[in-house]
Amino acid sequence: MDFALTEQQQMFRDSVATFARKELAEGALARAHTPHFPHDVAKKMASAGLLGITLPEADGGSGGTVMDAVLAIEEVAKYCPRSADVIQEGNFGAIRVLAAFANDDQKKRYLAPLLRGEEVIAVGMTEPDAGSATTDLKTSATPDGKGFRINGSKVFPNPHADQYLVYVRYGPGVEGIGSVMLRRNAPGFSIGKVSKFMSNADWAPIFFDNVYVPPEDVLLPAGGFKKQIQGFNAERIGNASRSLAYGRHCYELARKYALERKQFGRPLCEFQGLQWKFADMKVKLDAAQLLLYRAATNADRGFPAPDETTIAKLMCNQVGFDIGNDALQVMGGLGYTQDTLVEYCVRRSRGWMIAGGSIEMMKNRLAEIIFERRFSQRPPRAA
Ligand SMILES: Cc1cc2nc3c(=O)[nH]c(=O)nc-3n(C[C@H](O)[C@H](O)[C@H](O)COP(=O)(O)OP(=O)(O)OC[C@H]3O[C@@H](n4cnc5c(N)ncnc54)[C@H](O)[C@@H]3O)c2cc1C
Repeated sequence: MDFALTEQQQMFRDSVATFARKELAEGALARAHTPHFPHDVAKKMASAGLLGITLPEADGGSGGTVMDAVLAIEEVAKYCPRSADVIQEGNFGAIRVLAAFANDDQKKRYLAPLLRGEEVIAVGMTEPDAGSATTDLKTSATPDGKGFRINGSKVFPNPHADQYLVYVRYGPGVEGIGSVMLRRNAPGFSIGKVSKFMSNADWAPIFFDNVYVPPEDVLLPAGGFKKQIQGFNAERIGNASRSLAYGRHCYELARKYALERKQFGRPLCEFQGLQWKFADMKVKLDAAQLLLYRAATNADRGFPAPDETTIAKLMCNQVGFDIGNDALQVMGGLGYTQDTLVEYCVRRSRGWMIAGGSIEMMKNRLAEIIFERRFSQRPPRAA
């Protein structure tokens, strides 16, 4: 097994680092405390070729690998954790599912403005009664002429997105699930009361009241659920990458702090209690990074494998949060203030242990992979 980055990967990583140092480092703290999506950063990243890294050049992407996109998140998060969201949106999230299954016309109307950094996409998957049990979703797509009427609601998406990739039910069962594309100005589409996550990011319920979706805005017809979940593995690698990158950001801040901060007449790094904490942090960070790199490298330009993605997400979510929390402790009262990015990273990474498949659901999935059989989470049927 070769653990070294290729020369090309090193050059790409260094170029992203230069971009992030020059364009993003200044204002990183203020950006973290602004709930709105950093559109200015998205434009800069589009110009720098950092949106659509893994997409084919024919679709407006750069033809790179999943590993390139992971390196981009890592380098950006080193200098500006909040800006790593733009790499996620532009490379790992709903954009990957859209790019994989859209036809040429849909790519022109939906994908192109995302790659130019002009629009933001969100996914409407979770419903009030369908969280971890995604396939219980009720939002219906009923035929109307050549198109469909959408009725139902979703919870937790970004309420400020321009376009939504919405999971819908065309018919009964898992086979009845597919997806459509919607714009926020579609008649019958409305956004409910905006609330806050613990991260201070906004979310809101969204409602569909007989929204008409023309045939050209159907992304995946009935039977598309498995394809969507395949694509969701890309989202999970982005989620895992950000968790780990945030953990590493905190670790670096705490490491520098421990070298400089003196108590009892000596720097914190001379206390063995903290040295051992740092040793544990370093081992966890490196172990998580290897699992993440395995999933990313083996994916090449495609969707990451479910088993490697599950393991990487589990490990990176836990390690990212734990390291952030340990770093906060090392930095004492200062770590708990909003004067450094440590508390921000801890609040953000906590959410990724729930979003994109919770830690518990990832473990359920892993158990199925280990035992090579399905374990239904539903109550046993009466005999
Ligand atoms: C930061 C953040 C961003 C999000 N963004 C979006 C978005 O953009 N679009 C969108 O559609 N959704 C989004 N979500 C919603 C997210 O997908 C759901 O929160 C997630 O799927 C869990 O669903 P739930 O909240 O309904 O929890 P529930 O499914 O009600 O679960 C509650 C708890 O029980 C556990 N649990 C449930 N079932 C099992 C089981 N079988 N075995 C063991 N434990 C179980 C869960 O792990 C969890 O800890 C976001 C969530 C967060 C936190």
